Amino acid sequence: MIVLGLETTCDETAAAVVERDADGRGRILSNIVWSQIDEHAAFGGVVPEIAARAHVEVLDRLIAQAMQEAGRRFDELDGVAAAAGPGLIGGLIVGLTTAKAIALVHEKPLVAVNHLEAHALTARLTNDLPFPYCLFLASGGHTQIVAVRGVGDYVRIGTTLDDAIGEAFDKTAKVLGLDYPGGPAVERAARDGDPARFALPRPMVGRPDADFSLSGLKTALRLEAEKLAPLSDQDVRDLCASFQQAVADMVRDRLRTGLSLFREQFGQPMALVAAGGVASNQAIRALLNACALDGRTVLVLPRPELCTDNGAMIAWAGAERLAYGLTDTLDVGPRPRWPLDTVRKPREPGSA
Ligand code: ATP
Ligand code: MG
Ligand code: FE
Repeated sequence: MIVLGLETTCDETAAAVVERDADGRGRILSNIVWSQIDEHAAFGGVVPEIAARAHVEVLDRLIAQAMQEAGRRFDELDGVAAAAGPGLIGGLIVGLTTAKAIALVHEKPLVAVNHLEAHALTARLTNDLPFPYCLFLASGGHTQIVAVRGVGDYVRIGTTLDDAIGEAFDKTAKVLGLDYPGGPAVERAARDGDPARFALPRPMVGRPDADFSLSGLKTALRLEAEKLAPLSDQDVRDLCASFQQAVADMVRDRLRTGLSLFREQFGQPMALVAAGGVASNQAIRALLNACALDGRTVLVLPRPELCTDNGAMIAWAGAERLAYGLTDTLDVGPRPRWPLDTVRKPREPGSA
């Protein structure tokens, strides 16, 4: 089955074509991502109106390019998928409306995909990975530990009570005068910094739940920076290293707790899977490896370009849902808020 997928939830415009064979194996036929980072850099964050306009300007060209690279015509598709939420309303309308138009004209099934479900299922596109597995999703907008039990079947084990981890990296970069997006800039600066110079808090560590909190850490970092101002280059490096170490310590503790909560409820996970831009951070990758090892769990880290927002993940989630006959009608609407545990599940075999 061949599916076109569109991603427009935030600041990436993306179109991709993927194939899912009868055994559930995936293949990427094309995967085109256009990042709007340059449009938003001057503002230090994503500006929703600029994002929506940029999606309109480039999406049709990206789709043409994705179809051409895949070497397929629209009438050869088995379905059209678009991310219908969660995300910024302007972008969601652009992607979903475009997918509806293609589905209508070419008489193809439409799949309105939950962006988080797409992150959750991406590991199965490139790996032979059975359910259930434990997902650690850490991006600019989300920080969650999720039990992935099947297509459409997700149980949230932990979540952030305030900021997402990527967002905290972005805000730290802004306070320290580093480039946007902040994650890679903070990681680079941290390389030559002293992680022990500042005693920043480790929020949530030791709690029996698997939730996260970043706001106290973020404030502590800002106060240290204000005390030292004006900051030398070495101050910035040491602040970045101390911040990254505090985040890593929190994530290690929260994941260990999350994995044991998973085992209590669902048995041994088939794997620990990471997704989201933060999963490309080397310090985070190292601790994920350590967590998996001491839980005797396989670690599955999709390639960085499949961890950040892309069209292949939407197309793949569309294909996984299509395989269960889960399609949507043309009156389906965008959903700026759409918790992962509320997506529609396949019917149990035999149920009405
Ligand atoms: P979502 O809607 O899923 O939250 P997003 O576009 O905000 O999407 P991604 O594209 O998955 O998220 O990732 C971007 C985020 O990841 C940014 O906040 C960025 O700072 C962070 N990030 C990227 N690389 C790194 C890194 N090396 N270290 C830490 N954070 C990183
Ligand atoms: Mg993004
Ligand atoms: Fe995302």
